[in-house]
Amino acid sequence: MRKNIVAGNWKMNLDYEKGVSLFSEIVNMVKDEVVGNQEVIVCTPAIHLSSVGKLAGSVKNVAVGAQNIHQAESGAYTGEISATQVKSTGAAYVILGHSERRAYFGETDELLAQKVEAALKHGLSPIFCIGETKEERESGRFFDVIKSQLEKGVFHLSGEDFTNIVLAYEPVWAIGTGLTATPEQAQEVHAFIRDTIAGKYGEQIAADTTILYGGSANPGNAKELFSQPDIDGGLIGGASLKSRDFVDIVK
Ligand code: PGA
Repeated sequence: MRKNIVAGNWKMNLDYEKGVSLFSEIVNMVKDEVVGNQEVIVCTPAIHLSSVGKLAGSVKNVAVGAQNIHQAESGAYTGEISATQVKSTGAAYVILGHSERRAYFGETDELLAQKVEAALKHGLSPIFCIGETKEERESGRFFDVIKSQLEKGVFHLSGEDFTNIVLAYEPVWAIGTGLTATPEQAQEVHAFIRDTIAGKYGEQIAADTTILYGGSANPGNAKELFSQPDIDGGLIGGASLKSRDFVDIVK
């Protein structure tokens, strides 16, 4: 059965102490809320990982993730962090393919395919982001864009490896803009993603894949979005920086 997940993406926010204290607050507020196939994940800057990883270690259904890794295992890559290093902090996930990494850091589908492999090889589950720009939506090309991102970024994986991936549909025009996709728009794309997965890996794997929605999700719109049949939770940016908002979304 697929998981229902709410994942926070703190991006480049919060200094060390503020991050650790926000994480502790979140854990205290959600620890009795998340049960069964539900999971709360918080993807922090690297500086927080080992502290929050220790806090998360003792709480069921709460996990920690990074926001990027380098594709190599180790070596002379000044300023970079590897999958093994992230894993050693207690983190279980890593966001890959976020549109900010694609746009500002030039991350291509080909590079992302390598990062996905590095993550899986070292026991991290990728939260792999896909989504179209405003122009791609308006020109009606968005299904092609999303299909191509899937094919190039993750469809090289075996079915078994693919089951360790979480997908996040994040329309670029909705990220940090306050413009949310309507539940119908999001559901339409999520259903398309699931169908595309079924075409590649079969119905069972498609049914078991968690597909999150991201892009200006907040306590006011989360319930309607997450109640769509193919939306299994959210990847939350801005609203994950306040414990109350984030926990309201979880609830
Ligand atoms: P947002 O960001 O919720 O602030 O729109 C989502 C994301 O970038 O993952």
